[in-house]
Formats: sequence, C-alpha cells, structure tokens
Amino acid sequence: MPSSRVAVIGAGAAGLVAARELRREGHAPVVFELAAAVGGTWRYDDAASADPLGAGRVHGSLYASLRTNLPRECMGFLDFPFVAGEGAEGDPRRFTGHQEVLRYLEAFARRFDLHGLVRLETEVISVRRSGDASWSVSYCSRKLAAGTDSGGELRDEELFDAVVVCNGHFAEPRLAEIAGIDRWPGKQLHSHSYRVPNQFHAQVVVIIGYNPSGMDISRDIAGVAKEVHVAIRAAPAEMQSTTAHANLWLHPMIDRAEEDGSVVFQDGSRVKADAIMHCTRGAPLFEKKNHALHWVQVQLPRRRLCYHGGRQPRGPAIQARVPAAAGP
Ligand SMILES: Cc1cc2nc3c(=O)[nH]c(=O)nc-3n(C[C@H](O)[C@H](O)[C@H](O)COP(=O)(O)OP(=O)(O)OC[C@H]3O[C@@H](n4cnc5c(N)ncnc54)[C@H](O)[C@@H]3O)c2cc1C
Repeated sequence: MPSSRVAVIGAGAAGLVAARELRREGHAPVVFELAAAVGGTWRYDDAASADPLGAGRVHGSLYASLRTNLPRECMGFLDFPFVAGEGAEGDPRRFTGHQEVLRYLEAFARRFDLHGLVRLETEVISVRRSGDASWSVSYCSRKLAAGTDSGGELRDEELFDAVVVCNGHFAEPRLAEIAGIDRWPGKQLHSHSYRVPNQFHAQVVVIIGYNPSGMDISRDIAGVAKEVHVAIRAAPAEMQSTTAHANLWLHPMIDRAEEDGSVVFQDGSRVKADAIMHCTRGAPLFEKKNHALHWVQVQLPRRRLCYHGGRQPRGPAIQARVPAAAGP
C-alpha cells in the first residue's frame, strides 16, 4: 500500500492510537491537538469554564472525584494493558481515579514514541476537499506563533491524503428544556463545568439526569448540600429516598420552574431549590445525519468536527476511521 500523509485531529485516546496504527501501516500521520498536552478528556482542567452552563473553550468534563465506570481491564489497548501505575502516584484500583487514565495515555504516547507526531496548541479550523485525492486542512497554531509578531496565533493550511477525526464527543453541553426557567431565580450549571461540590454547601440542588455523571455528581454534592433532588426519566412510582444518602431523592422529570424558586416535578411534588445542575449528555460534535465519509468543504466552527465512527477497537471508548481517499 502506498504511504499516505494523514492528518489526525485530536490527541486523546482515539487520536493517539490512530496515529500509532497509521505509522505501523507505513503512513505518515500528523496529529493536531488544540490543548498543550496529549490525553484529551482525561486531562483534568480544574479551571472548568467561565460559563457555568459549559459554553466556552474548555474541552474536558472531568470532575475532581471522577473514577472510571469501567474496570481498567476493559479500558486498555490490547497490546498495552492498563496495569496499575507504579510508585506513590499509582492508583491500583480497578475502577481508577481519572489521573491514572491520563498517566496510562501518557505512558502509551511515550512507549510508542508518539509525541514527535503531535503538534500541540494547534487547532484545526476547517477540512476541505482539494482536487480529487487530497484534503486541505486549515489550522491555527499558538505554538508556532510564539516568538513571531503574528498576534499570538499563526494560521496555515496543508494538504493531506486522508483525515482521521478524533476530536471527542462530549465537549458540547446540552441543556434540558424547562418551562418557566427564564423567571426562575436560582443558579444553573451544566455538569461539563462541574469540578468540586463546595459551592453547594447547605443548598438545595436539583440534578437533571441519572447517567453515570448524574449519579456521581449527585452523591458528590449530597456530601455537602442540604438536599439533592434528582429528576430522572425512568421515574420512580413515588418520590423516594435512596439508601446511600438520606438527603438524596429521586423524582420524575421537571414539569416547570417558578418565580419563587420552586421546581415542580411531573408528579406534582415541588422543592424550593438554589441550583439546577444539568447532567444531560454533551451533544456529539458531529451529528449522525452528517456522519458520512464524503464531507466536503465543511466549515468547522470551533470544536465542531466530524467524529468518525465505524468500528470500536478496544480502548477507552474510541472510534476512528480514515475517510476513503476515493473522494465524495
Ligand atoms: C466524564 C466522562 C467520563 C468518562 N468515563 C469513561 C470511563 O470510565 N471509561 C471509558 O472507557 N471511557 C470514559 N469516557 C469516555 C471518553 O470519552 C473516552 O474514554 C476517551 O477519552 C475518548 O477519547 P477521544 O480521543 O475520542 O476524545 P477526547 O479524549 O475528548 O480527545 C479529543 C481531543 O481532540 C482535541 N480537539 C478537539 N477539537 C479539536 C480541533 N478542532 N483541533 C485540534 N484538536 C482538537 C481535544 O483537545 C482533545 O484532546 C468518559 C468521558 C467523560 C466525558
């Protein structure tokens, strides 16, 4: 097979393993990564976003207490097992803390000598078809701009034979629609911006969603809050307390929010809440309807790139595939 020059967008788990596999097959990958280091979503950023609803430039959604919801044996790549890290920093638990996953991905990058392939602080802005067999990748680099008079960012464009899009899929928060929320006086946040529970001390908090993040975060907050009320789709027959925390309650979904601070659930029960946390899944960065190999002249607003699915190699929930070189 002739060697291809391949742009890989993103240096999280998917981008790193894609780059390794491409090089093994004799191709020449170049990995573009907008962050200052590899690891993607596993790079904890305690700064979160200035916007509590999660809009803005922060990619990761990790909260400080997060542990994996899969055992480490299921998260490692087949030929590079996710064994417990050594030394004082190592976390031997099967469901490890997030720091251990980042260490694993960094070790993967070192072991397979991937750092030299990655252009850090370089954001892909657009991917366009160029002629019959090439892709024109436009990017903006803070790293290359250092020491130049380009105003902090340097823009450029390069041609590639193929593009692998590994830009993640949880970075775009999605909010639940709540009747009356415009006049509700409390504070709203999205789990994408949640890091630690301190700000909810002695407060009444409503959490929307009981996916893994919703479960974790509701328990995290229940440790400091006065009450935590979780609105879930699979509604319990009646409002009930969970066994783990006496101050954590399950409810059906929210019917409406009211001006006096009340949140009313679909079963008519109500609480006066200080905050609502949307633990609703982030939108995929590229919706299914656009999920095709022949994306041409797609202008890509920040972070909105195609996440290419197809097969699921073992590893931390990754999917990546090289677009067909045959054209649209
Ligand atoms: C809260 C949370 C908990 C999770 N828990 C688990 C778990 O326990 N087990 C598990 O297996 N999976 C878990 N996952 C899934 C997780 O997404 C995968 O483990 C894996 O990290 C996905 O890797 P990725 O490379 O596809 O995406 P990411 O890790 O998101 O990496 C994408 C990379 O692309 C970069 N990027 C984005 N846009 C651009 C651009 N335009 N130009 C250049 N670079 C760009 C980003 O900066 C980032 O580094 C969890 C996810 C979240 C959000």
